[in-house]
Amino acid sequence: MNRRDWLKTAGMAGVAAALPLGSLPATAQDKRGPTTVKVELKRLNLRHTWTTTMSSSTYRDTVHVQYLRDGITGYGEGAPIQRYEITPEQAMAAIAASAGFIAAGDPRQFDKLFTQVRGKLGPNQHAAMAAVDIAMLDWWGKKLGVPLYEYFGLDPADAPVTTFSIGIDTPEITRQKTAEAADFPVLKIKVGLKTDKETIEAVRSVTKKPLRVDANEGWTDKEQAIREINWLETQGVEFIEQPMPAHMFDEIKYVRSKVHLPIIADEACTSAAMIPKLREAYDGINVKLDKAGGILESYRWIQIARSLNMKVMLGCMICSSCSCTAAAHLSPLVDYADLDGSLLIANDPYVGGVKVEKGKLILPNEPGLGVRLA
Ligand code: MG
Repeated sequence: MNRRDWLKTAGMAGVAAALPLGSLPATAQDKRGPTTVKVELKRLNLRHTWTTTMSSSTYRDTVHVQYLRDGITGYGEGAPIQRYEITPEQAMAAIAASAGFIAAGDPRQFDKLFTQVRGKLGPNQHAAMAAVDIAMLDWWGKKLGVPLYEYFGLDPADAPVTTFSIGIDTPEITRQKTAEAADFPVLKIKVGLKTDKETIEAVRSVTKKPLRVDANEGWTDKEQAIREINWLETQGVEFIEQPMPAHMFDEIKYVRSKVHLPIIADEACTSAAMIPKLREAYDGINVKLDKAGGILESYRWIQIARSLNMKVMLGCMICSSCSCTAAAHLSPLVDYADLDGSLLIANDPYVGGVKVEKGKLILPNEPGLGVRLA
């Protein structure tokens, strides 16, 4: 990087820290014209207060990137959460500080460029990386004139149904949320607090449809986890996501040997390199763009898990339809989808992305992601 670029970059990082909901463009000029990278935070308001074992919130701030080159704009989004130790402000500052470098790179060589950008963004900046990866692959799909699923050689007819998630709530609200999700053939229920039985009984008082359960690391005693899982098996549950804290690897291995339901790693799966080891304690992994760092790395995780005969679930954080649609383009590759993040919010900044019909994901047949600003 020359001194002028360095000064520009350093200056932008300072502005980013002072402007939590601001917007920062960076521009690089080459012989094909200027390339602009813009990053901003958007506040997404939740339809219902969202409670899991980790937190309770009424909104989420996510990071949005626009990559403008050759008159084409690519859109990207990252949703950093506290569990992975990065705030939205830190993710935005990291992108702003790397924006000059990103703008100067060649998007047609995105594989190499993404490795370099990941290094620039710094440790744990997976959601920031996802925002950049999604924006640049959206741009590349638009430039080539192909939808991203087609770029990856996938058949949109293979896209699975997505679950609709029910966060932890009172039995009355849980019944109401379950009734509101009537169109979805499978539900994902958040548990892991002391109210698990009441939650499942509230859901079961409204519907008999299959359930998937996410404990979000909530059970810390292995015998308790076994009791809970064996009871959930009697309640028409298909699998359990992250029953115990990610670091309790040996305990989860023991639990898995004592139950019938498949166990899926979510919080325990944070890099491609750890997937072979996870097979000793889990039947599958939950791939998220915000954990892997975008579409390209998620594709790699999926292929690694497949090669190990593991089940693959594709999930998302609470996010807009930009990030959900990006994940949906890979969904023809997976067994289970949980891509309801944008359905949980009331003010989606994008239109035209993935649709859900009776639970099935319908991929947009437009170049790139297929989303536009609302
Ligand atoms: Mg989960």
